Amino acid sequence: MAAIGSLVFCTDCGNLLPATKGTEKNFLKCECCGAWNKDTGSKTILTKSKPSDFPSFLRQKLQSSVQAVERHNIQTESVVQERCPKCGRDEVKYTSVQLRSADEGSTIIFTCDCGHSWNENN
Ligand SMILES: [Zn+2]
Ligand SMILES: [Zn+2]
Repeated sequence: MAAIGSLVFCTDCGNLLPATKGTEKNFLKCECCGAWNKDTGSKTILTKSKPSDFPSFLRQKLQSSVQAVERHNIQTESVVQERCPKCGRDEVKYTSVQLRSADEGSTIIFTCDCGHSWNENN
């Protein structure tokens, strides 16, 4: 009784697990990483609640808050004439970040291609 929607993926590595055999076995072993995953294949067919059952305004609210977080995390990197104290390179990238509370202003973080990073206060 193979059916669309019975695919089960490993929660550890995302590997496609062998299809459910329709037995009473509730766990499938991942051939890739060896993790045991709950066999949700048969449940997927029987489930009555789908994401589309949620009110659309709720989903829109969730999506917009996710997008707001992503926008907040985007940092623009710029190149500045600043000497790296570790390797001596005189052109490094810098990023402005909010480290503590909002009233303390932002801090400039310098990042060198050699992997060294420091901030303007050090
Ligand atoms: Zn796996
Ligand atoms: Zn450097």
